[in-house]
Amino acid sequence: MLFENLIGQKVAKKILRQAWDEDRLAQSYLFYGPDGVGKELAAMELAMALNCGSENATPCRQCNSCRKTAAYIHPDFHYLFPRPHPSSDGDRRKLAEEISEMLKEKEAQPHLAFDFGSRPTAISIDDIRELKEKMEFLPYEGKRKAVLMTGAEAMTTEAANAFLKILEEPSPTTNFILTTDRPNALLPTILSRCQKVRFEPLPPEEVIGALVKGYGQDPRAAGLLAELSGNSLGRALQMTGQDLMAERNLAVKLLRAAAEGKHWEMLETIEQVARDRGRPARFLEMLSAVAGDLVHLKVTGKIKNSDRQAELSDLGKKIDRQKLSEMVKAIEQARAALERNVTPKLCLLAACNTTQGEQDAFTSDRGSL
Ligand SMILES: [Zn+2]
Repeated sequence: MLFENLIGQKVAKKILRQAWDEDRLAQSYLFYGPDGVGKELAAMELAMALNCGSENATPCRQCNSCRKTAAYIHPDFHYLFPRPHPSSDGDRRKLAEEISEMLKEKEAQPHLAFDFGSRPTAISIDDIRELKEKMEFLPYEGKRKAVLMTGAEAMTTEAANAFLKILEEPSPTTNFILTTDRPNALLPTILSRCQKVRFEPLPPEEVIGALVKGYGQDPRAAGLLAELSGNSLGRALQMTGQDLMAERNLAVKLLRAAAEGKHWEMLETIEQVARDRGRPARFLEMLSAVAGDLVHLKVTGKIKNSDRQAELSDLGKKIDRQKLSEMVKAIEQARAALERNVTPKLCLLAACNTTQGEQDAFTSDRGSL
């Protein structure tokens, strides 16, 4: 059956399976909903099914066509996603190599997100022009052409307008599947051309269950992963390679140093975290989870990771409710600032600043950032 490997998403599966069984798929779909809940997996499965060569399985995952689609090399499968657009030929060649490596990894682990570091990414007019050229031919190998565009909100205005033209005069042998976690950032004219299918946030027990059964995580780590990822299976899976327990200890250490006014210790930890690319964002997520535990502890007297209760109770005593709520706010602001490319070190400093009871350097400086 279609979408056998997709956890949760009863409504989306029902809508799409019914359309598939009755042979009345919409030509353009928009799968929308939070990050990491299965939109792209569902889209890949549908794209695979469109050209699967087997009669009794949809998709079979074994035939030549299924394997080529899964490897992102099927000539009738076009995959667009936000990526950097270098200006020099040399950089473009390097990027193409980088992307082809990433796609090989993604074939084995489809939940992997592209990591282009701090380079700005978009779906550009060039990407859409290239797509348009490909759309002018009939399918090469398969019955249909499938276009998957993930992160569709990342189209530039020019790209979106050009893409709209393709959607307005689609070739009858093409199916489009767009995914986004921010449907309102898309042109209304594009939205109205697509049949929208909502993907729901996953319940924590489904994420934990999938991590334990499907990916061999131990239940304790699975609980922490679900919490840290905001119940996004995709993000949780991206975190599985990291030593979360050690990172959590470091987050507690930093908050303790901040609460006790041990500035050198604080700076040392911040230096250590800011050194590795990608780590500050994950570390801020961890700080946010620890701060969340401290809030739970104050409100209910209990936390989810009960093994840490004694240590956190002790830390909680050093931070009153007022300071704690300032701290939670500061961490969220720091996470937002990091997304806007503010220096990681400054973001980490701002995240623990309020625990010293001083004026929040980050918010007062905001105008100049
Ligand atoms: Zn197949």
